[in-house]
Amino acid sequence: MIINWDTKLYCLIGNPVNGSLSPIIHNYINKMDNINSRYMTFNVQNNSLSDVIKGFLALGLKGFNITSPYKETIIPYLDEIVGDSEKIGAINTVKNENGKLIGINTDGAGFIKMFYDNNISLKDKKILILGAGGAAKGICYSLIREELSQLVIINRTKDKATKLARQLKKINTKLNIQSKQLEDIKNRKEFDVLINTTTVGMKPNNKKSPITLEGFKESLVVCDIIYKPLETQLLREAKMKGFEYYNGIPMLINQAILAQEFWLDKRLSDNVSVETIKYINEYLKED
Ligand code: NAP
Repeated sequence: MIINWDTKLYCLIGNPVNGSLSPIIHNYINKMDNINSRYMTFNVQNNSLSDVIKGFLALGLKGFNITSPYKETIIPYLDEIVGDSEKIGAINTVKNENGKLIGINTDGAGFIKMFYDNNISLKDKKILILGAGGAAKGICYSLIREELSQLVIINRTKDKATKLARQLKKINTKLNIQSKQLEDIKNRKEFDVLINTTTVGMKPNNKKSPITLEGFKESLVVCDIIYKPLETQLLREAKMKGFEYYNGIPMLINQAILAQEFWLDKRLSDNVSVETIKYINEYLKED
């Protein structure tokens, strides 16, 4: 693919952005779907966010992603926020529509897309989610839009799980949403899906698992949103026990696909997700 006068520039801003997979993912998607765009990363210093946004607007950049520490501080610069993203308190994608900056958080929808792509229905399902941090918030706000039968949130710091459950209940008053401690779960067999959003399983906790899979039913679907390592201790146990399981790569790829679809205002080809997941899994294996 050649760069010409019509090539559009998209980027990730954050600090640090070193080691980010976003340029690899987005540029692979651009190549796969013949999109005349390039994706770069910019390490933005603390006091220069305002200048950076002004520069993007002056140059007419069509969109950008935001990572830590600017996912919240970007909000005052936006003209519009889509969906529950403001309640989540974090924006990861911005579109420039003729000088109007529109923000969205694609993390939760990216996670849910994995279920649709793999023909897993969430209807009437009981979900146990571990963690109540930023990623858990995004995922929970999307989960409560599905027709679940129950959502149970467990977190090391109990108050954070209680607060999140309270916020979610305001949006979906009918759904059974609870916050609990791990030791309060008496009947593990009732859960259909287990999601780990804690950092337990990543370095330096890569030898640890946030939960053992003893006592869950055979049809349990285990999701760990960690993608480095590709196979956490939790997923190794899931594999050993024969559970269906997913690592964090599908969510990572899907949030990028949804960002591109938001920027371009069109659906990408159906095979982009599967091919990019394969590519990134291979890339990380060699890493
Ligand atoms: P965060 O906001 O810092 O939240 C971290 C969560 O982990 C909190 O719930 C925290 O509990 C819990 N935790 C940390 N250490 C723990 C321990 N030793 N024992 C039990 N719980 C512990 O982080 P985040 O942004 O939500 O990210 C969480 C994970 O998701 C990271 O591994 C990140 O790489 C991954 N992630 C993946 C994707 C993807 O696209 N696949 C996207 C975003 C994030 P407390 O509240 O008690 O501190």
